[in-house]
Amino acid sequence: MIQIKSYADPRHNQYCAFCANFKTKLTKDHIPSKVFLNKPYPENMHIVQACHNCNNGFSIDEEYIAYWIEIAIFKETGVETERYKKTLKALRRNISLRKKILGNNLFGKDELLPIDDNRLKNILFKLASGHILFRYSNPQYKKPTYIKWGFLLSLNRRDRNKFESIPKIEVLPESGSRTIIMIDKFGQYYYPWEIVQDDVYRYLVASAENSTFVKIVLSEFIYAEVIWLRDT
Ligand SMILES: [Zn+2]
Repeated sequence: MIQIKSYADPRHNQYCAFCANFKTKLTKDHIPSKVFLNKPYPENMHIVQACHNCNNGFSIDEEYIAYWIEIAIFKETGVETERYKKTLKALRRNISLRKKILGNNLFGKDELLPIDDNRLKNILFKLASGHILFRYSNPQYKKPTYIKWGFLLSLNRRDRNKFESIPKIEVLPESGSRTIIMIDKFGQYYYPWEIVQDDVYRYLVASAENSTFVKIVLSEFIYAEVIWLRDT
């Protein structure tokens, strides 16, 4: 990933990126978390400051989501990728997580349980607000107005094209933010998909007149749109 230094207000780094907590010790948290990526990890990964509670709470859900996706992809394709093998290994060590993904049937035929909507949305909130902070230098402590997600394969061509489209940035973000720097540099009011890792993770941040939104694709399998409507 290209590294662009942000010149926006550095005070954001003194609060938890997700709950604005500043009273406890903050720890570094990767966006996206490494559990969603393959080794070798990309250079210049984005890091935000998070409080212990947020960091811990998210990492449990992140593992769950990353592993669920790997099992689902295997069920769909039958291909045993390195990531899938790693997932099985991790789930052998973590029986309680395995039960949440594959049910109680430990020795018989595996049955993939439906993905937990709340856990997925919790992680989509984290990823999206982290991406906005990185691109727009604008923390999102409030929960998103809505989160829409689904399976990429289930989109028809028209909806897929709409999802993939790169919207114009209609409302300018914080001065000094990475998006402003890019706009100044290239004079274009859009910011393409950021491919964090090919076929593994990509996202896009944009702002329309009344909203800021993030599109995310996990393993080219799950797509999501996370939207914050602006207060009027
Ligand atoms: Zn926090």
